[in-house]
Amino acid sequence: MTDMPALSLFTLLTDRLGKRLQPIQATKATLVDVSHTLEDLVLHERLPALIFTGFQESSHWRAETERYRELAGVAHQICIFAGGQLPPESDQKQIHVRLHGPDPLRQEWFLLVLTERFTAVLCGRDLQAPALSEGDRRFQTIWTFEPDLITEIIAVLHEVVARERPDRLVDLETAIERFPPPPPDAHLLTLFTTRMIDDLVRQHEARLQLESMLAYESRLRALGQVLSGVAHELNNPLQGILGFAGLIAETPEQAPSTLEEAGYIVEAARRAQTIVQSLLQLSRPNSSEPALARLNEIIDQTVIFVRADMSSYGINLTITSEPEVAPVLVNRVRIQQLLINLLTNAIQALAGQPGAHQIEMIVRQPSPEWVELRIHDNGPGIATELHERVFEPFFTTKAPGEGTGLGLSIVRTIVEEHQGHLKLESGPLRGTTFSILLPTGAKHKPETASAQAEDNGAGLVLVIDDDPQIVLLLERVLKRAGYAVRAERNPEAGLRRVLHEHFAVIISDLLMPEMPGTEFYERLIRLNPALAHRIIFITGDATRPTTQAFLQGTGQPYLLKPFTTQQLLSSVAQLLAAHPPLVVAHGSAIVEPAPARAPEANESA
Ligand code: ADP
Repeated sequence: MTDMPALSLFTLLTDRLGKRLQPIQATKATLVDVSHTLEDLVLHERLPALIFTGFQESSHWRAETERYRELAGVAHQICIFAGGQLPPESDQKQIHVRLHGPDPLRQEWFLLVLTERFTAVLCGRDLQAPALSEGDRRFQTIWTFEPDLITEIIAVLHEVVARERPDRLVDLETAIERFPPPPPDAHLLTLFTTRMIDDLVRQHEARLQLESMLAYESRLRALGQVLSGVAHELNNPLQGILGFAGLIAETPEQAPSTLEEAGYIVEAARRAQTIVQSLLQLSRPNSSEPALARLNEIIDQTVIFVRADMSSYGINLTITSEPEVAPVLVNRVRIQQLLINLLTNAIQALAGQPGAHQIEMIVRQPSPEWVELRIHDNGPGIATELHERVFEPFFTTKAPGEGTGLGLSIVRTIVEEHQGHLKLESGPLRGTTFSILLPTGAKHKPETASAQAEDNGAGLVLVIDDDPQIVLLLERVLKRAGYAVRAERNPEAGLRRVLHEHFAVIISDLLMPEMPGTEFYERLIRLNPALAHRIIFITGDATRPTTQAFLQGTGQPYLLKPFTTQQLLSSVAQLLAAHPPLVVAHGSAIVEPAPARAPEANESA
C-alpha cells in the first residue's frame, strides 16, 4: 500500500468535476467554524443524515470520538475517511475507510452532510504555505449547497468506498438511496447563516478587544509622558506657594489665625509636592545603570526607615532568606523606593486592625536567572475585583491625605524597568502577598532580545483559546520572550498535544464554545495530574460566582482580559519560578527531570 500515491479526495473531485467547482481559499479556522456549524445543525435539529467526514490525522480519532458518537446518535450513517489506522467500527452506523498512501497526516479537510432538508459539501486541501498559527493555515476549498454537484460528488465517494470497503458498500448504497440530495431548505439556510454571522460578530468583538488592549498600553505610555511634563511644570508654582506661605508663617507679628492658616497652606502644598514627586518617579526614565547588589543588604538598609512606624503599630517584621542567593542586577535606589512603597502599604493596611500584626519578607532563588522577594502581610487583603485597579495611577481606597494612589503604579514601573515580574496574591482571609522576581546578574538575558521560536530551555508553552486573534497575540508575545509555543483553538486538540509533548505552562481560556475551560482542566488533570500546577487561566469575566469558585478551587493563577503583555509574561515567569520546566532536549524527549525543589515549601506564604 505504501508505494501508492496518497489518495486525495480534493484532487479526485477537482479532476472529475473540473470547472463546475470553483475552489476558494479559506483558513483552517474557517473550515473548523463552517464544519462545526453544519454538524451542530444536524445535532440541534436532530436531522437523520448521511455524513461523510475525514480526519486530517487518524490519530485524532480518539479525541474526536465523543463528537462523532454524538453525531452518529442522530445520523443514519457516518462514513469516515482517514489516513493511517482507524479503530474498529463500533456499530453498523459507521463505515471507516482508510485512504491509502504514505502520508498519514493528510492535510485535507472533508465534510459532506446529506439530510432530507439540506445538503452541503466542504472539502479543502492545505496549500502548505507558511502561516502564523495553525488556524491561519490556508486551504484551497470547495464549498457548495448545490444538489446536482453533490450528487456527482457522492458518486465519486461511492467509487472510493467500493474500492476500499466493498464489504460495507451495501450499507452505503442504502443510505444514499434514502437521502437524495434536496434543494436547500430556507429555514435551515437561515439558521446556518445566522450562526456564521454570530461567529463573525464574535470574532470582530475579539479583534476590537485586542485593539483596545494594545491601545490601552500605548495610552498608559503617553499618560506617563504627560504626567512627567505636568509634574515638572507644577514644581515651580508649588515652590512659590510653599515659600511664600512659609514666609507668612515665619513672620512673628502675624495674627494667630493667619499663622494657623499659613500652616495649613504649607501642609497642603507639601502634600501636593509629595504627589508631584511620585508622578516624577512614575515616569522617570531609569537614569543610573543597574549594578549587582545583594537584595538582603538592600532590604536591611531600607527597613530601618519604617521600623519606627512598625513598632508604633505593634507590627512584627520577619526577614528570611535562602542561604545562597545570587546578587541581583538592579538600580539600588529604585529598589529601595519599591520596598518603601510596599512596606508602607502593608503598615497602613495593618494599622487599626485587630489581632497580631505580621509582615514577612522572604528572599529565595527559584532558578539561576531569578531572585524572588515576597512581602506578605496578614492585613485585611485586597478584594479580587480590585487586583487590577490597585496598580492604576491615582487609585486609592485611603482617606484623603493618607494615600495618593501612586505607590503601586510606581512599584510596577520599577519592576518593569528591571525587566522583572510582579504578582499580587490577596484575599480577605489570606492577607496580601506581593511577589517580585528580579533578574540575577550573571546569566540573565533580557526577554525581548530573543526572537527564538524554539525552546531555549525557557519552557514549552501551550496556548488554548478559541479566538484566533488572542491565540496569535499570545503566540507572538511568548515567542518574542523566548518561549517555544504551541497554540490550539480547540481544547480537544490541546489535550491531544498534552499526550505527546511536555508543557511547562498551559494557558487556557475559560469560555470556549467547544469545551469550557473548566472541563478542559478536569480532563487535563485526569490525563496528567502533574499538570494541575502548570495552568494559567484567561478569562474575560472573573466576577461570576461559578467562575470565582472554580478559580479559587484550582488555586491557579488567572489573567483578566484585557491584560498587558507584561502581566502575561509575569504570570508565566512566576509559574515557572514555582514549577521550573523539565529539561527537554530536541523538543520533546525528557532527558533529565528537574529535581524536587526545596523552595516550593515556601509557596504557602
Ligand atoms: P495608596 O497607598 O496611596 O492608596 P497604592 O497605589 O500604593 O496607593 O495602593 C492602592 C490601593 O491598593 C490602596 O489604596 C489599598 O486599597 C490597596 N493596597 C495596597 N497595598 C495593600 C495591602 N498590603 N493590603 C491591603 N490593601 C492594599
